[in-house]
Amino acid sequence: VAKVIADSLSYEVLCLLRDHGPLSRAELADRLAIPRARLLGELTRLAGAGRVIEAGPAASRGGRRSTLIELDAQLRLGAVDLGATSVRVEVVNGRLEMIDAVEEPIDVRLGPRPVLGRIGEMLGKLAAQGSHTRLDGIGLGLPGPVRFEAGVPVSPPLMPGWDGFGVRELLAHEQGCPVVVDNDVNIMAIGEGYSGVARSVPDFLFVKLGTGIGCGVHLVGEVHRGKDGSAGDIGHIQVEPTGPVCACGNVGCLEAVFGGAALARDALAAARTGRSPWLARRLVEIGAVDARHVGEAAAAGDPTAMALIRDGGRRLGTVLAGLVSFANPSMIVIGGGLAQLGHRLLAEVRAAVYGRSLPLATGNLPIVLSELGDRAGVIGAAKLASDVVFRQA
Ligand SMILES: [Zn+2]
Repeated sequence: VAKVIADSLSYEVLCLLRDHGPLSRAELADRLAIPRARLLGELTRLAGAGRVIEAGPAASRGGRRSTLIELDAQLRLGAVDLGATSVRVEVVNGRLEMIDAVEEPIDVRLGPRPVLGRIGEMLGKLAAQGSHTRLDGIGLGLPGPVRFEAGVPVSPPLMPGWDGFGVRELLAHEQGCPVVVDNDVNIMAIGEGYSGVARSVPDFLFVKLGTGIGCGVHLVGEVHRGKDGSAGDIGHIQVEPTGPVCACGNVGCLEAVFGGAALARDALAAARTGRSPWLARRLVEIGAVDARHVGEAAAAGDPTAMALIRDGGRRLGTVLAGLVSFANPSMIVIGGGLAQLGHRLLAEVRAAVYGRSLPLATGNLPIVLSELGDRAGVIGAAKLASDVVFRQA
């Protein structure tokens, strides 16, 4: 029992220093509500383990001056946000502040060994640029369900060859540090809850609108992952019984009707048939149109593009209304590439959610865009990595 208490105390000390920066010994003892002597023993141990350092005298609070404690400046975490077509790799310090970053296109369908090998090279490149000499831990988000405890992807539809692959084991072996693996939407939710628009909001839903659609279910201060890691996989909820066939093999999934891939398909059809003169012109000019152009066309007043966003937003909103009734969140955050459709989309989603949910659940329910944008994922991955490293301190 004593060991457990000691472990959780060092974890709490390190989290306080991560979240608040340097704190005096007196402040730490107050916040943790423990005797000074006990704290001093713990700090000595953490200093010996290379986790904290003394940072000079604290401003006096009257009486004896206290010493400032901060996280060791050499602490380094790797944070990786792997998408279906791109990967962002950051190295951050113990306070999760970015030291250096690199982002490049990647095809996740190449399989785990080539893709993880490339991530290793990117970390090596950052090391060569001086970001770190060694990593204390790594957090990695993958575009599919992950069995969290094992660090293993489970039947990810977009990732052939990854099912059951020991991602955490391989990366931990190659980088020589603890590794934590989670779903990409979950890490975005964790990032947004840590330092984005949902910070200090314990119950919220984070909706990622990218090529596909997923939802981070953040309840009671934690991401809810479900038994196999597929909680929040809302892209495959049926919204159109006679609708288009989805990549998953079912018919009329939300993702098959609205989402980056679906919108690109609809944009192309609208351009080819001339239903949207704006998109047709664009298709002639650059040879292709996608979801991004739907946003531009709508901003230019193109009625067909506006209708695509309106219909998609309504369908998404209808699904979210069901989730609101189920989970009673205090906020919905919308992020991912399609979030750039912005306020037009937001207005539709709001109308559908507020119109369909019971007033008690939506009386004070902000539906807002992500604040962290494309950094939400890496911040969440870094937060997860720090939790693992601090628990082992
Ligand atoms: Zn589907």
